[in-house]
Amino acid sequence: MRVRFWGTRGSIATPGSFTLGYGGNTSCVEVRAGQDVLIFDAGTGIRELGLSLVEEARGAPLTLHLFISHTHWDHIQGFPFFVPAYLPSTTLHVYGSPGQGRSLEKILRGQMDSDYFPVALGDLSSTMQMHEFRGGEFAIGDTTISAMYLNHPGMNLGYRIVHGGKTVVYATDNEPYRYTLDHLGRRAEAGREFGGRLDEEFVRFVAGADLYIGEAQYTDEEYPAKIGWGHSSLSATVEVALKAHVKSLALFHHDPMHGDETVSAMVAVAQRLISSQLSPLRCFAAREGQILDV
Ligand SMILES: [Zn+2]
Ligand SMILES: [Zn+2]
Repeated sequence: MRVRFWGTRGSIATPGSFTLGYGGNTSCVEVRAGQDVLIFDAGTGIRELGLSLVEEARGAPLTLHLFISHTHWDHIQGFPFFVPAYLPSTTLHVYGSPGQGRSLEKILRGQMDSDYFPVALGDLSSTMQMHEFRGGEFAIGDTTISAMYLNHPGMNLGYRIVHGGKTVVYATDNEPYRYTLDHLGRRAEAGREFGGRLDEEFVRFVAGADLYIGEAQYTDEEYPAKIGWGHSSLSATVEVALKAHVKSLALFHHDPMHGDETVSAMVAVAQRLISSQLSPLRCFAAREGQILDV
């Protein structure tokens, strides 16, 4: 598989001189699995991806598979600017969870309502097929995709992609359950235990991945003020990667407040944690434009 990061930022696009290194566009990752083009999230990074796909196709029809983790702004805001969706020759499969009381299609239609955007979803010329699901496993060609709900406000799916004996996990916007439940406090020890069991399920979902694209939005110092917001501290994400014995960890969903220097410093902290465990785990921060062969 070939993985390319088109947007690595969380929460809101953050252009400027201090984010030139790791990038300012929000979540969008392209995975080429054989002939299939899989796209994970439609943050602002998907605009450039769309232009690149159209250029590469040179007028030939495109079939694309877009997986939405969840419909917070930073994961869908680039969609109205995704040029292939405007072309009659494109077939676009969109996958994701329904929201809380609204279908995926209704939510995507909502962000293109005329109060927010001049072109309606229904006016796009591509053939669009919505595939709603709530976890489970299915195949696209010779690629197997499984999905699991993560701990985040709203309905958020992580994805495990297996192709040609290799595994990539894309799991962003995720907070360990045991911290959220502990913070809510009402269930005390029982809550922490229950949360711990749910966290183990997530470790099994990530287990053995060749590449784990995991979010680490906050430093360990920042996290205590953000408990319950649905994001991970750096050490929590490193801990999952170590427990799951993944080969590589790409730190993802960089906080808008974190310039390149902060992100690099977080990588150094993560690497110290990893070497203190004598683990061969490779860790780096996802960078916009970066291409990885898995
Ligand atoms: Zn996000
Ligand atoms: Zn989110």
